[in-house]
Amino acid sequence: MTKPDTIWKAKVLTLFPEMFPGALGLSLAGQGLKDGIWALETVDIRDFAGDKHRSVDDAPFGGGPGMVLRPDVVSAAIEAATALAKDLPLIYLTPRGRSLNQARVKELAKGPGAVLLCGRFEGLDERVVQAHAVEEVSLGDYVLSGGEVAAIAVVDACVRLLDGIIGTPESLAEESFETGLLEYPQYTRPQEWKGRTVPDVLVSGHHEKVRAWRKEQSEAITRERRPDLWARYAADNA
Ligand code: SAM
Repeated sequence: MTKPDTIWKAKVLTLFPEMFPGALGLSLAGQGLKDGIWALETVDIRDFAGDKHRSVDDAPFGGGPGMVLRPDVVSAAIEAATALAKDLPLIYLTPRGRSLNQARVKELAKGPGAVLLCGRFEGLDERVVQAHAVEEVSLGDYVLSGGEVAAIAVVDACVRLLDGIIGTPESLAEESFETGLLEYPQYTRPQEWKGRTVPDVLVSGHHEKVRAWRKEQSEAITRERRPDLWARYAADNA
């Protein structure tokens, strides 16, 4: 495998560096990591604590439950992580962020990589977001216990788009969101399973009919499940 000129870099700021590479060390991403197509570095936020107890959090001003990550500690970690990586966008994973989509994933994958800041507890002191050029990104409308699982998802989505990761890059062109639609249903052998067969058109050998059937299915599924995507697709294709 020939290495690309520049390697896509993921730098993860976390209180749990042992969670990495985790799922990113396996399968396509794991192979890409071994092949040097991308690189992963973790920065332990706790290393930037200033006291002997290595405290990283404190109670929220104004009261309320839980703890908040201290701005001085997290900011010191960010400065150390970005000192040699000024070209990488700094992303804070948070349910308050803009929902990640395939368009943003593609932009990130085309760039040099990303610094990913993982929150814990009640999250991060707001002043860190103001003091640094932070892009706030959410994985969806639900609350995880920490940003690490979200960071793994962001890196996985980007890495699979890098040259040399997927053996048949053409397969990327047909995936959900590529054409603004969700993907059509897929089938494989056996042709009959538990009394269920596959649609006749898929075994007809008629490529044009297969293409038309798949498009029809994609449109129907998108219309039913994702009215938001469907409205955009319908407007773009009016
Ligand atoms: N108090 C926060 C709120 O209500 O928005 C939730 C904090 S959550 C328990 C702890 C950390 O998990 C967050 O700081 C963030 O880094 C991460 N997290 C939780 N849900 C997430 C999501 N949907 N997308 C990205 N990161 C998330």
